[in-house]
Amino acid sequence: MTGEHVSRSAAGEAWARATGAGIHRLAVPTPFLVGRVNCYLIEDEPLTLVDTGPNSGKSLDELALALERHGHRIQDLELIVITHQHMDHLGLLEILARRSGAEVAALHLLAPYLEHFNERATDDDEFAESIMRRHGVPNDLITVLSSVGAAFRAYGSSGHVTRELSDGDTLTFRDRRLRVMHRPGHSPSDTLFWDEDRRILIAGDHLLDHVSSNPLISRPLVDDGGAPPRRRALIEYIESMRMTRELPAELVVTGHGNPIVDHVALIDERLRMHNRRARKMLRLLAGGPLSAFEIASSMWGNIAVTQAFLTLSEVVGHMDLLAAEGKVHELEQADVVRFEAASSGSR
Ligand SMILES: [Zn+2]
Repeated sequence: MTGEHVSRSAAGEAWARATGAGIHRLAVPTPFLVGRVNCYLIEDEPLTLVDTGPNSGKSLDELALALERHGHRIQDLELIVITHQHMDHLGLLEILARRSGAEVAALHLLAPYLEHFNERATDDDEFAESIMRRHGVPNDLITVLSSVGAAFRAYGSSGHVTRELSDGDTLTFRDRRLRVMHRPGHSPSDTLFWDEDRRILIAGDHLLDHVSSNPLISRPLVDDGGAPPRRRALIEYIESMRMTRELPAELVVTGHGNPIVDHVALIDERLRMHNRRARKMLRLLAGGPLSAFEIASSMWGNIAVTQAFLTLSEVVGHMDLLAAEGKVHELEQADVVRFEAASSGSR
């Protein structure tokens, strides 16, 4: 994880620039490790909220107060836009949409997910369990983590998307246009909103200033009927970051923390970090094949236990990178996958 890119005063300037463009940060509390989530009020026509915060009374109260500070009420909202499928970004959707009657815009792939949030979240949890089992996480730990996951699910909610978006679409307001960009990686539904005239990018969790966005292993959004193949989230994410790197953005406002003013430098740093991390993991394999959980444990110690799925996602993502380079391959032993360095000889 890397240091702050934006000093305090630079962050202040960046926020002032966003405010000048009618984009106001409403930082809403979450029960998650990540801390507050940034929702954005766009003062334009339609009056728009980007992301909602998690489904809790405390979040709803704080969101309502933050709106009031800008002279608006929940009932005034005319459009709600969702950046991606994580609970901290969409949990209040149902309540806000009901109270305001606002249109709800989200990526078309996300619409069926939101419509049946509980079922999909349950499927996601089962998928996560099978991934953990397959990658060597001990069964008793999986049981504990699953009950924690189930308890958190209440912070999400369903919602009905009235305006399905596709990559390349434009959302038109009185004073601005936002181009819709599907840039999967952190999640399969990551959607960015690009104001080309102002060179401002609304990025959700696709890029974060203070931490590397985790490319979480997740089920594909399109159900093709068969067993869902595992998405290669980090490879997908790196591809998406390379596309974002080409945008002439001057300001990137994000789902958590401060805005990013030099996204090219930040993306370059993230790419270097992933490369370094992949090499480090490859060195661990010099001693013989390891499961993703064993690699995560030696990389991050106890965090591999408390944050098993997250660290597993990191390891598997980097193994995908190394496999694409022909440097590792998978060995299946008693239903557990181990990774073996390609150069470590035959078995
Ligand atoms: Zn997220």
